[in-house]
Amino acid sequence: MVPDTRPAVPERLRRALEGRGHRFTEQRGAVHRFLSGTGTHPTAEEVFRGVRGELPAISLATVYKNLETLVACGMATKLTYSDGSSRYDGRTDPHHHARCERCGTVRDVPGNLPAEVMAELESCRGFRVTGYRLELTGVCSACA
Ligand code: ZN
Ligand code: MN
Repeated sequence: MVPDTRPAVPERLRRALEGRGHRFTEQRGAVHRFLSGTGTHPTAEEVFRGVRGELPAISLATVYKNLETLVACGMATKLTYSDGSSRYDGRTDPHHHARCERCGTVRDVPGNLPAEVMAELESCRGFRVTGYRLELTGVCSACA
C-alpha cells in the first residue's frame, strides 16, 4: 500500500466551505495552501502559476473561482485597486498594507491606528463606519 502523503485537510477550511454550502475539493485546498503559505498578496495569475505544478490540469478560471469562494467563506481577503486589478491575501485578521507604486507588490505592515485616531475617524457625520482600509503607497527597496 502506498502511504498517503497528501497534507491533511485543514479542518477550519473544510468547515468554512461547508458552512457556505461549498464542498472541499483538492483544488480549493491547493489554492488555500498556496495563499496561506505566501506573504506576497498574489494576483489570481500568480496563484495559478503557483498551484499548476501540483495540479497541472487546473485552469486560471478555476483558480479565480476558487479564490472568490475562499473570500466568500472568510478564508481569504481580496484587495481591489482602482485600475481594476486584484490581489489576494491569506490573512483575514485586520492589518495594514504597503504597496509599491512601481512594481505593484504589496506587503503587510504591522501596527494599529491609535484609539484616538479611530475615534476621530468614526465620528464622521452622516456615515456609519463598519471598517477601514489603510494602505501605504511608496517605492519598495527592490525598485528604489
Ligand atoms: Zn517595487
Ligand atoms: Mn496582508
